[in-house]
Amino acid sequence: MNYQLIRSKRKTLSLQINGNAQLIVRAPNRLSIAKIEQFIDEKSAWIEKKSTSILAKTPKKPSYIDGEKFLYLGAEYPLSVKADYPKVLTFDGQAFSLNQGNKEEFLAWYKNSFKKIALPRLEYYAKNHQFSYNQVRLKTQKTLWGSCSSNNNINLNYLLIQAPMSVIDYVIVHELCHTTHKNHSKYFWQLVSSILPNYKASKSWLHESGYRLTNL
Ligand SMILES: [Zn+2]
Repeated sequence: MNYQLIRSKRKTLSLQINGNAQLIVRAPNRLSIAKIEQFIDEKSAWIEKKSTSILAKTPKKPSYIDGEKFLYLGAEYPLSVKADYPKVLTFDGQAFSLNQGNKEEFLAWYKNSFKKIALPRLEYYAKNHQFSYNQVRLKTQKTLWGSCSSNNNINLNYLLIQAPMSVIDYVIVHELCHTTHKNHSKYFWQLVSSILPNYKASKSWLHESGYRLTNL
C-alpha cells in the first residue's frame, strides 16, 4: 500500500486519508517501518472504506466530450458533440447537443432553464401561501442552495435545476418560509412541513447528492 510518511516528535501513530484518497501516516521519529506497516495492515479495512467513500464523493470534472452524462431535473442525459449543430448547447429531452464549448455553455443553459422552470414555482408557492419577497437573484455557489436576507431578498443557486423538481421546490419553499421566520425554529419547520409534508426526503437528497450539482 502506498502512503506518505510524516515523522515527528509525536508519541503515537495516526492515519489520515486526504481529499485525494491518499494515505498519510504520522509516526514517532524512531518507530520502525515494520511496526508502521503492521499498523497500516491492521487498519486496512478502515483505510479501504474511507478512501472508497472519498473517491465516490469527488467525481472527475467533466471534459465536455461526447457521451458524458449531465444532470437535468434529477436525471442524467448524455452529451453529443458535433460540429454541425447550429446552436452552442441544446437539449431535446433525450440528450444535450453541443457544437463547441464547455462549462460556460452549461452554466448559461442551466441558468436559463432555472428561470423558465423553477422561478414560476417560486411565484406559485408565494401566491398560494401568501408569502411576499423583494428581489430574486440567481447565483452559483459551492455549498449554498438558497438564502433569504432580512429584507426578504431571495438568492437561489440555479445549479439546482439539475436536481429533482421536489428538491427545487423544497429549496424554494424553505427560502419563502424564511420571509416569515428568520431562523430554523420548530415554527419554521412546521411551516415548511405544512406546505411540503415530504420535505425531509429532499433535504437528505441535497445532503447526500448535492455535491453532484456543483461538479461542472
Ligand atoms: Zn434556512
